[in-house]
Amino acid sequence: MARYHIETYGCTSNRGESRQIERALRDGGHHRVELDDADVAILNTCTVVEKTERNMLARAETLEETVDELVVTGCMAIAQGEAFERAGIDAEVLHWDEVAEHVRNGECPTTTPDTAPIVDGVVGILPIARGCMSDCSYCITKHATGKIESPPVEENVEKARALVHAGARELRITGQDTGVYGWDTGERKLHVLLERICEEVDGDFRIRVGMANPKGVHGIREELAAVFAAYDELYNFLHVPVQSGSDDVLAAMRRQHTVSEYREVVETFDAHLDEWTLSTDFIVGFPTETTADHERSLALLGETRPEKVNITRFSKRPGTDAAAMKGLGGSVKKERSSEMTDHKMEVVGEAYESMVGTEREVLIVKDGTGDSMVGYDRAYRQIAIPGAEREGVALGEFVTCRVTGHNTVYALAELV
Ligand code: SF4
Repeated sequence: MARYHIETYGCTSNRGESRQIERALRDGGHHRVELDDADVAILNTCTVVEKTERNMLARAETLEETVDELVVTGCMAIAQGEAFERAGIDAEVLHWDEVAEHVRNGECPTTTPDTAPIVDGVVGILPIARGCMSDCSYCITKHATGKIESPPVEENVEKARALVHAGARELRITGQDTGVYGWDTGERKLHVLLERICEEVDGDFRIRVGMANPKGVHGIREELAAVFAAYDELYNFLHVPVQSGSDDVLAAMRRQHTVSEYREVVETFDAHLDEWTLSTDFIVGFPTETTADHERSLALLGETRPEKVNITRFSKRPGTDAAAMKGLGGSVKKERSSEMTDHKMEVVGEAYESMVGTEREVLIVKDGTGDSMVGYDRAYRQIAIPGAEREGVALGEFVTCRVTGHNTVYALAELV
C-alpha cells in the first residue's frame, strides 16, 4: 500500500476529480501523507494561462526531486502531456481515472470488506469475491484480504439484477482477482457467472470485467473467450496483468503464471474476438530484473500490443519479501520506466489512430470537461464527445459517434 501526496490546482472540476482519486486510493488501503514521507506524488494540474503552465512545470520539478515517483494528471496532462518530458521531468502522465490504478504498485485492487454492491451514477460496482489465490512477494494487500472466498453464482446474479434495477447501465465486476472466482469451491466459474448475468438479468446494460490474473484466466481461457464472443452485454475487454516478460522475474515475484500462459490467454481471445482491448500491467525495476529481463518485457509489450498499459516503477512495501531484496538504483528504475512508457505510447497511439474515422456505439457513463460527455465503445475504449451535453445526450444513453482524433488517454468523437 502506497503513501501518497496529492496537490490540486485550478477549478472545482479538478478538485472533484482529486476527491475521486483520493476515495479510490483510500478504498485501496493507501494513505495520504505529507510530501516528505510520500512514495508517490500526484499533481493534478491546471493550464488556464501560460503563467500557470510555468508554475505547474516548476512544481512538478520540485515534486520529482522529492519523491520516488511523480504522477501528473488534470488539464495540462491531457492537453500538453509532452511538456513535462520536454522540460526533462520524469513523470507518469495519466488521465485522472487511471491514477489510482497506477498507484496500486502492481498489487490487486482491494474490494470493500463486505463486498457490497453500490451504484455510482450509472455505474454499478459488483465485487464478486474477496481475496486471491496467490502470494506475490511484493504484495501487502494480501495480508489484509487473505485467500479467496467466493459467494455462490446465484448470489452474485441477484446482486447484478439489483444493480441494474437500481439504474446501473454499466456493471463493473470487481475483486482482487476475478479470474479465480470459485477456485475455493473447487471450480473456477467466472465464465459461468458472466453467462448467467447476460442470460438472466433483463435490461440494456454492459459488463466490464475487472482485473483477472493470468494464472486464473489461463485454465478457463477457452470458455471465457467464448462467453465474451457470445454476448453483446460484455465489453470486449480483459485486464490480465502480466507484470514482466521474464519467467525468472515472475518466479521471484511469485506470480504463479509464466509468460507463455499470458501469451496463450491473449492468443485465445484474439482467436475468438474480432476487436477487443487487452489491458495489462508491468512492474519495472523489480530487484532481480536484469537488463535482459527488461528487454523481454519491452518485447512482450510490442508483441502482444495491449491498448491499455499500467507501468509501475517497483517500490518496496514494508513487511513484504521483496522489500528484503537488494534493490536496483533509482536511476536504473527511472530509465527503464521511461523506456517502457515511450514504447507504450507508440503501441497505444497506434491503436487510437486506427480508430479515427470509424463509427462506434458508445455507452455514456460520465460527464467530461465542459460540455463533453464520456463513454465506452464495445471494446471498452474511452471516448470523449465534446458538445454531447448541449445536444441533450444523457448519462446511461447509447449513442453513435464518429472518431475524429485522440490524445494520449482517450479518443475524441462527434455524434452521428
Ligand atoms: S494476486 Fe498477488 S498482488 Fe494480487 S492480491 Fe493476491 S498476492 Fe496481492
